[in-house]
Amino acid sequence: MEFPVYLDNNATTPLDPRVLEAMLPYFTSKFGNAASRSHVFGWVAEEGVDYAREQVAKLIGCTDKEIIFTSGATEADNLGIKGVYEMYQGKGNHIVTVATEHKAVLDTCIHLEKLGARVTYLNVKEDGLIDLAELEAAMTAETILVTVMYGNNEIGVIQPIREISAIAHQYGALFMTDATQAVGKIPVDVDADGIDLLALSAHKLYGPKGVGALYVRRKNPRVKLTAQMDGGGHERGMRSGTLNVPGIVGLGKACELCRLEMDEEAKRLSALRDKLEQALLLIEESQVNGSTSQRLPHVSNMSFKYVAGEGLMMAMKDVAVSSGSACTSASLEPSYVLKHLGLSDDIAHSAIRFGLGRFTTAEEVDYAIESAKKELKQLRNLSPLWEMVKE
Ligand SMILES: *Cc1c(COP(=O)(O)O)cnc(C)c1O
Repeated sequence: MEFPVYLDNNATTPLDPRVLEAMLPYFTSKFGNAASRSHVFGWVAEEGVDYAREQVAKLIGCTDKEIIFTSGATEADNLGIKGVYEMYQGKGNHIVTVATEHKAVLDTCIHLEKLGARVTYLNVKEDGLIDLAELEAAMTAETILVTVMYGNNEIGVIQPIREISAIAHQYGALFMTDATQAVGKIPVDVDADGIDLLALSAHKLYGPKGVGALYVRRKNPRVKLTAQMDGGGHERGMRSGTLNVPGIVGLGKACELCRLEMDEEAKRLSALRDKLEQALLLIEESQVNGSTSQRLPHVSNMSFKYVAGEGLMMAMKDVAVSSGSACTSASLEPSYVLKHLGLSDDIAHSAIRFGLGRFTTAEEVDYAIESAKKELKQLRNLSPLWEMVKE
């Protein structure tokens, strides 16, 4: 076993060596600009990009012409939401999203509010899922876009995407999903799921950082976007800028590997995750945050009362996990996602996210269990609050 053990695969994943191998030639001999039409260097780079586009498309069940390469999911979220907002202003100015979305979506919506958009931020229930009746009540004739993430990055909860897209379409709105945590981990099919726009990122699925894609539906309906980056007209005018060819080739290879290995990997990871969770639930005053039935296979967000998540995270020196708090400059704010589940500050502050991945072994999970048990015991033994509770 190598230390520290990496259990933070929702923050980023290591690059699969097979992905690196596919990328390497595009840094050296195949260095051409994919937009160079006049010589073989350009053609070879373009071939690599075209192949990758097909690999990405195949994973989510779309055509290659519907994929726009971006610098990651943050850019894809920005392009999708701002691009639709600008293009469909004649129809309306209302966007519906969820309070527990990633900041890439929330901050984009806040930006558009300053420009005149009306945004509804749906609440979630205790399990992290939205209430479909609340969505339906929010829809108006001015609603142009409903954007709801597929799987949540902090708690792994999977929203009822098909029901949500059906409601959006019933009211004539487009449906977008930030599927960064779901693509490559569980089956995602843009037609079956009724998705019009979808954001994904390579570094969450064992590809390189700094590359992602936006899927934009071309048929039933044909979605139009206002470009957010002007320049040479790359990506059919929707995203100018010289293509990151090695990154795109890596994203394509990563998508192919996920498509081929996802089913088995999901089974293996959910078994490991459940083992971890069951072992840690035996600890007094512990709980799982968010739905355990509608959930990505590799994530567990747990709270251990009377211990600060930050403290436990620091104490588990040889295990890299993430706590439920976002450390801002001066204060330690509990995660807004956990707060929206209705958890108390105490419970939200005591949360730890375990994110398993392709390279996580059973041995590593056992180590993490022992480490968490040992450190929790020690931290609680030092806690006057815990002593009071015990008495
Ligand atoms: C990581 C992540 C993003 C941001 O992706 P980048 O490619 O790092 O910009 C957006 N949304 C979700 C749900 C994520 O997990």
